[in-house]
Amino acid sequence: MSPFTTLLLQWWAIHQRQLPWKNTQDPYLIWLSEIMLQQTRVEQALPYYERLSAAFPTVKHLADASTDDLMRLWEGLGYYSRARNLHATAKHIAYQLDGHFPNTYQQILQLKGVGHYTAAAIASFAYNLPHAVVDGNVFRVLSRVFGIETPIDSTKGKQQFTQLANQFLPPNRPADFNQAIMDFGAIQCTPKPNCDTCSLQNICIAFEQKKTTTLPIKEKKIVKKERFFHYLLITDPQQQIYINRRTARDIWQHLYEFPCIETNKLLTNVELFPHINQLLQTNIAIENTSKPYTQQLTHRTVHAIFHHITCRTTPTTPAEWQHIPAADLSQYPFPKIITQFLADQSQQQQILF
Ligand code: SF4
Repeated sequence: MSPFTTLLLQWWAIHQRQLPWKNTQDPYLIWLSEIMLQQTRVEQALPYYERLSAAFPTVKHLADASTDDLMRLWEGLGYYSRARNLHATAKHIAYQLDGHFPNTYQQILQLKGVGHYTAAAIASFAYNLPHAVVDGNVFRVLSRVFGIETPIDSTKGKQQFTQLANQFLPPNRPADFNQAIMDFGAIQCTPKPNCDTCSLQNICIAFEQKKTTTLPIKEKKIVKKERFFHYLLITDPQQQIYINRRTARDIWQHLYEFPCIETNKLLTNVELFPHINQLLQTNIAIENTSKPYTQQLTHRTVHAIFHHITCRTTPTTPAEWQHIPAADLSQYPFPKIITQFLADQSQQQQILF
C-alpha cells in the first residue's frame, strides 16, 4: 500500500463518521442516501434520509408511493429532479428488474440519475467492488496532497483525478478507502483545511509549498440567472385558495405554488395591477403585499413577493389551478421560498382571511 493510502486508512480508523447509511450493505438504502447527498451537506440530508428510509424501507415501497407523498417528504431538500429520478428508477427496479438491484458498476450506471460517482459509491459500499469515488471532497484531497494544478472542473482534470483515486484504491478494501477519503475531505482537509492537526502533513505537497488555499483550482465560475416571481394568494369568502402544480421542465417541477406572474424585475403594485387583471379577467384588489423573499439555487437566484388578492367577481382561472381549503396547504409540497413565507405568516399570526 502507498504511504498515502496507509496514512489515510490509519486516520480513518480513528476519525470515521458514524452515519446511518454506513451501517448497511443494502444497495437500495445506499442508493437512497447517495442520491440525497448529491449537492447536499450530510447534516442537511440526515433527517431526510431517516424519514424517507422509514417511510419507504424497500424499493417496492418507494415504487408504490404517490408522487405527492414522496415530494412532501423531499420538500426543502432541493434539486427536485433527484426525487423524480429516484421514483422512476424505483419503479424500474421493482417492476422491470423484479425488485433485484443491479449488482455491477456498469449496470448501476445505467440507472436514471446515477452518474459515475454514485455508481462507484453503490458498487463499493454494497458489493465491495473496486471502483473509486471521485467527488468534490476527493478532488480537493488529491489535488492538495499531490499538488495537482489541473482544474478539477475540466475534462482532463476529471480523468486525471479519477485515475489517481483508482490507482490508490486497495483492491481488498475499496469501501473503506472510499469512505476514508470522503470523511477526510469532510472533516480534516476541508475547504479551510485543518493542517495543524493533519497526519498527512509530511506527505502533503500543498502544505509544503504553502498552496493549501489555492488548491484545488477551478476554471469556470457559475453565472447565476435572476428570476422574479409574483405569487398571487387569491382568496374568497369560503376560505379557499388557488394553487397550481409546476409541470414544466423548469425549477421545482412537480412542486406546488400559488398562481405566479413571472417578470424580468420585481414590479410595484401599480405596475403589477394590469398583469393580474389580464390574468384573472375581473376587477381585483391587492389587500396586502409581503416583503421580498430570496432563495439561492445553484444556477439561479429566485426573488418572490406574495400578494393577497381579493376579486370582485369569480375570476377566470385556468383548468389546472386547484381550488383548495387554505387549512389544507400543509398537505402539499411547496418550494422552500413558499414554505418560508407560510412559516412567517403563521409565526406572525397573520391570517390570510
Ligand atoms: S496538510 Fe492540510 S492540505 Fe494537506 S492533506 Fe492535511 S489538511 Fe489537507
